[in-house]
Amino acid sequence: MAKKGTITINRELCKGCYLCIRACPVKVLEPDTELNTSGSYPVKAKNPNNCIACGNCYEVCPDVCIEVCALETAET
Ligand code: SF4
Ligand code: SF4
Repeated sequence: MAKKGTITINRELCKGCYLCIRACPVKVLEPDTELNTSGSYPVKAKNPNNCIACGNCYEVCPDVCIEVCALETAET
């Protein structure tokens, strides 16, 4: 069974470089349409249920805006 994960994005820290969008293998992320208080369009989770907890978004983010949490998955 594939790993599942959840992410938490700090939209106020995000500067909208979108390295994380390119790094995500399952297209969880997309740019938000609302500005943050710094005047950037931060990233948001469009398809959060797709997350496989690979950690790529966490690793590429220069400002540590994303936390990744791996969920326990029961084998069936
Ligand atoms: S890599 Fe970090 S700063 Fe860049 S868009 Fe993603 S969350 Fe924002
Ligand atoms: S942990 Fe991996 S699958 Fe989940 S949002 Fe980040 S890059 Fe995408």
